[in-house]
Amino acid sequence: EGFLPFEHEPYFNFGREEVAEQQREAYRLVREKYVGRTFPMMLCGQPVGGEGTFEVHNPADTREVVWRFPKATPEQLEEAITCAKAAFGEWRFSDPMQRATIFKRAAELLRARRMEFNAVMGLENGKNWAEADGEIAECVDHFEVFARETLKWAQGKPVYPMPDEHVTMVYEPIGVVAVISPWNFPAAIPLGMALGAIAAGNTVVWKPASETPLSSLLLVELLFEAGLPRNVIQFLTGTDEVLGDPLVDHKDIRMIAFTGSKEIGCRIMERAAKVQPGQKWLKRVMAEMGGKDPTVVCADADLDAAAQGIVQAAFGYAGQKCSACSRVIAEDSVYDELLDKVVTLARELKVGSPEENAALGPVIHPGSANRVMDYVEKGKGTARLVLGGERAESGEREGGYIAPTIFADVDPRDPLFQEEIFGPVLSFTRARDWRHAIDLANDSEYGLTAAFYSRDPQKINEARRLIHVGNLYVNRKCTGALSGTHAFGGYGMSGTNAKVGGPDYLFWFLQTKTVAQKY
Ligand code: GLU
Repeated sequence: EGFLPFEHEPYFNFGREEVAEQQREAYRLVREKYVGRTFPMMLCGQPVGGEGTFEVHNPADTREVVWRFPKATPEQLEEAITCAKAAFGEWRFSDPMQRATIFKRAAELLRARRMEFNAVMGLENGKNWAEADGEIAECVDHFEVFARETLKWAQGKPVYPMPDEHVTMVYEPIGVVAVISPWNFPAAIPLGMALGAIAAGNTVVWKPASETPLSSLLLVELLFEAGLPRNVIQFLTGTDEVLGDPLVDHKDIRMIAFTGSKEIGCRIMERAAKVQPGQKWLKRVMAEMGGKDPTVVCADADLDAAAQGIVQAAFGYAGQKCSACSRVIAEDSVYDELLDKVVTLARELKVGSPEENAALGPVIHPGSANRVMDYVEKGKGTARLVLGGERAESGEREGGYIAPTIFADVDPRDPLFQEEIFGPVLSFTRARDWRHAIDLANDSEYGLTAAFYSRDPQKINEARRLIHVGNLYVNRKCTGALSGTHAFGGYGMSGTNAKVGGPDYLFWFLQTKTVAQKY
């Protein structure tokens, strides 16, 4: 459609001193410009306050309050939904080219501010430079991909013709979409869901995670700057009491697009099933939930490559990704050697402040650290601890710093093997042979990502067929899905298999109209 061929946004090379200095400079500017401020919500096109505010803490040192956001009131939620509903009346007929152009412009605007967005994210959710950069580059990709997808889905699809009827099948938007998003990817995840909704011609009520609202707000402002009519997104921050169940339950919400925990996802699914008085549709729910993602290593694999992929996928962003590798399942004959290699690499990881670009930062908050340490303490009684197993020091800072932790000889029935921990904790389990390893990989209620390492085409084929996940990676790590290429979303209790960034994603936000016309 006249756009240049899509290319993924390249990452910054922080190994170069001048690039590293730019990132430090961006931190200085962000601290100057944003820290200490109280930010608004975006309601009916206007920046507004709420009833009181809440604090956002820097996970690197939780004593530091970086900024504040308003607490929305129940009336403001009502108002937001009313405005989104009114805006839908026009936006649903907006020109797809207009929508695509807004996304293209937003991509340009974001390219110029990536370092700043990285720094904001670092201060809110504790991502180091490369992790934040990966996510912001993904946002640029999202803008570019959704610009193209918008035009693609505006086309409708051909149907088999009839001699005496003219028949078309086209896609139409559905209504107001609630976007509820997590703190671990506070920019790319809600942006993907919101752009899906908007690209399709819907309007949005966006509720970011309370740990990380600024990474989301900056994207909303960027979209407004790029020309998005300001009523198309309502951006509300605050408590779950006001913005959780009441948003999901509201009769004028047509769809809920959610990413977060399994518990909340199941709760949303259940509540959304209830038809409220005055509600004229069955709500649609997209719920992307957890993972317990395995890396299978066969005896013939490149063990060094496997060890590197495992360490990156297990300890990147302290394991706080639903795509993180949390189980290694290795064939007996290479198990000990692989374990050695992984422990050696993991031991090198420097724990420290994400702002200073330490390899391993804190988990999101103290409560989260306690949860992770509970698993670790119990694990000491059921498996063999080979690395870490304790909180880590990070100077004077107060934060959820946990040493990279590895357990060996983990039993498949152990919670370490079955439950999502969401921290820097990795389990090793021994398999009799590679088929047994595949069986163990599938021994999970989740099915989000998996990695499979082997050089044998036959084993690889079997893995492709049998491993029950939405994203299978062969001879590479299981994190870092790219928008437009690695359509992302899982099987089983990992959720509804939304496949964000993929060629079918927009279908989630559309309904299909067949028009058969006789002349
Ligand atoms: N899309 C991210 C990845 O592939 C993971 C998203 C998540 O953890 O929620 O690593």
